[in-house]
Amino acid sequence: MGEPVFLSVVVPMFNEEEVIEATYGRLKQALDPIGEKYELVFVNDGSRDRTANIVRELGKADPSVKMVDFSRNFGHQIAVTAGMDYSSGRVVVLIDADLQDPPELIPEMIAKWREGYDVVYGQRIARRGESFFKKMTAAAFYRLLRSMTSVNIPVDTGDFRLMDRKVCDALGRMREQSRFIRGMVSWAGFRQTSVEYVRDERFAGETKYPLRKMVRLSLDAITSFSTKPLKFAGVLGFLMSAAGFVYLLVVLYERLFTHHTLQGWASMIVISLLFHGLTLTLLGVLGEYIGRTYEEAKRRPLYLVSDELNFAEEPDDALD
Ligand code: UDP
Ligand code: MG
Repeated sequence: MGEPVFLSVVVPMFNEEEVIEATYGRLKQALDPIGEKYELVFVNDGSRDRTANIVRELGKADPSVKMVDFSRNFGHQIAVTAGMDYSSGRVVVLIDADLQDPPELIPEMIAKWREGYDVVYGQRIARRGESFFKKMTAAAFYRLLRSMTSVNIPVDTGDFRLMDRKVCDALGRMREQSRFIRGMVSWAGFRQTSVEYVRDERFAGETKYPLRKMVRLSLDAITSFSTKPLKFAGVLGFLMSAAGFVYLLVVLYERLFTHHTLQGWASMIVISLLFHGLTLTLLGVLGEYIGRTYEEAKRRPLYLVSDELNFAEEPDDALD
């Protein structure tokens, strides 16, 4: 076995049977010329199609193909976490399975790492073949998040990035359930830089990130990195009480010093609906935080593995 792994490439997969062989091919083509020992850590996130079988076949012929097979679908960010836990390279690259992130960029990232950077993230200068809606919501989200957090999360970056082993280990020690890896990497610090790229279309198949999962990821991101929404409730409540007080003075004045009849049925209903709605919304915001606190308090493992492929039984340094 001997030589330690230099580069680990982590590939999360959820129902990617249509692309995974092509991805494997493109990765090999991009990585072989580097001339360093590498491993491809595929994480099967509970796919219900042939994804795992295909990778198992690839792994028979190629020992650099490794796989962590989840017991069910745990979600993209968790899959990436597992891949990082299992990887052993000096540097670790996270890449999507659908070839939207070009593997050809990896050598460029490694070059930056050799210059002394610990994190090299891919920054999208353009996105091809994604719907207007997705681009708009993504752009708005990154900017909203930036305005809400004190952590400096770069805009328009996904999880496509290279990390030094020490960054990977640092993230490995952060075991929070709601994970927003881009944010966690920013939080961790270290020397970071970017390389620019054009995000391609998905090679085949369709997105595994429906709106539901996108909303969840956004909420995870915001709640993990900001408590501003909670404070917002306080500020809003204060402003509303102040407005109510001013209106009280107006009403008193009208009653005592004018002959206006006080009418109020319609305005009362409107105000009541409006403000009850607002209260419930803010309760919902509170719920997002409390729910996550509860999840965290259970201290469950982040994921369960049903099978492993091609990982050595012993850690590298156990037998010499
Ligand atoms: N993915 C995953 N688990 C999920 C959803 C997605 O491991 O529950 C993987 C998916 O296989 C892909 C990556 O996460 O490798 C990004 O997903 P996708 O390309 O569908 O997202 P999009 O690029 O459309 O945002
Ligand atoms: Mg994609």
